[in-house]
Amino acid sequence: MSTPSSYDLIIIGGGCAGLSLASNLAKLPGAVPKVLVLEQREKYRNDRTWCFWDTANAACKSLVTHSWPTFRIKDKQRAYAYDALKHPYMMLASDVFYNQALADIDRCSNIQLLLGEETIGSAIKVNQTWQVKTASGEHSAKWLVDTRPPRDIVETDSVLWQSFFGQEIELDVAHFDVDQCVLMDFDDGFANGLAFVYFLPTSAKQALIEYTVFSESRYKKPDLQPLLMQAVAQYTGQIAHRVVREECGVLPMGNKRIQAHQDPSYVFSGLYAGGARPSSGYAFQRIQAWAKACAVSMVEQNRLLPFSKDKWLQRYMDDLFLYVIKSQPKMASTVFKALFKHCPLSALVKFMSDQASLYDAFCVMKSLPTFLFIQSLPRYLLHKLSKH
Ligand SMILES: Cc1cc2nc3c(=O)[nH]c(=O)nc-3n(C[C@H](O)[C@H](O)[C@H](O)COP(=O)(O)OP(=O)(O)OC[C@H]3O[C@@H](n4cnc5c(N)ncnc54)[C@H](O)[C@@H]3O)c2cc1C
Repeated sequence: MSTPSSYDLIIIGGGCAGLSLASNLAKLPGAVPKVLVLEQREKYRNDRTWCFWDTANAACKSLVTHSWPTFRIKDKQRAYAYDALKHPYMMLASDVFYNQALADIDRCSNIQLLLGEETIGSAIKVNQTWQVKTASGEHSAKWLVDTRPPRDIVETDSVLWQSFFGQEIELDVAHFDVDQCVLMDFDDGFANGLAFVYFLPTSAKQALIEYTVFSESRYKKPDLQPLLMQAVAQYTGQIAHRVVREECGVLPMGNKRIQAHQDPSYVFSGLYAGGARPSSGYAFQRIQAWAKACAVSMVEQNRLLPFSKDKWLQRYMDDLFLYVIKSQPKMASTVFKALFKHCPLSALVKFMSDQASLYDAFCVMKSLPTFLFIQSLPRYLLHKLSKH
């Protein structure tokens, strides 16, 4: 085991992936490796909202802060309401998740979290031990899990990007229906990709409203601000309101440069290491599944686990889907509308949650606009061949 000043495992980054692994390790019975989590932030705050579908395998369900039994998909002309009683759409506020993970870590004397510790540069291996530098000193460990995003991300690193900016707003009077969220309210006027408003009411007076863009370009908060302001005005009407909190992000959809390391004692994890699902950018449940499997593997088999590759059918479906959305952005909203309209929700939810059977995948494929995919298929195959 470790010498007093070193660890079995160092986790760089105590965000979703880093804390999930540490908390899973803390909860395992028996002897836990000696772990150090190095996180650059000084304190945790409610900086993001994680949403996912309620499925049999979904993790962290007991922490969920709100769920919706119905949802809508809409555009300027029409709105379609869907019953999601069997698979409600769930929301988890990040501060609730962070607090739970910190409490799990706190209960385990072998796991230490250092805040305000930015790691500097790349780790180096000396005598079978990884050396990690921070502003305040050096730490070493036999294993390393690195959850930092790469520093040199460029636009061409992902097939598409999902950029979003959201505000949690509070109204002066009750106005929202808390049982119904809007997953996609398409803005057909947006020229450079697919754009939609995402509306998540958490009480009659409070809601998270986000403006989201799927595009080859990445959009920053100032680019999305005027579009979000229009959406907020549309959803709040004339009612006076104030902004309680903001969140924004850019997620890879079809990351072409998944981080990986040759040395099995060094594993990359998180959004850029296979965490983000190509067709949605969603990563929370995938990170939970990885963290649980990696913790068990470390304790039972003495080895780290990277993210596993998606099943081939899911990989090819996501790839073709992204190709169609990218090459025909004006048709993208039609694709989503068709999916929600024609596919049984349980099959779609399982597909979106990495749990699709062959039959579920078939239902998804059957629901897509056939002409669009048949039209795109030859060009997609040519594009694939040219890449090989
Ligand atoms: C606003 C927002 C909303 C999202 N909503 C959803 C959602 O609804 N559903 C979903 O499935 N996914 C969602 N995602 C995507 C994904 O789940 C999150 O991005 C998730 O936090 C990714 O986890 P991670 O550990 O890779 O990154 P992070 O959670 O960002 O963690 C990385 C950590 O590394 C730390 N760090 C970075 N560099 C250093 C360094 N040099 N030294 C020390 N520490 C360092 C950072 O401070 C951070 O805490 C969302 C993302 C964002 C940004």
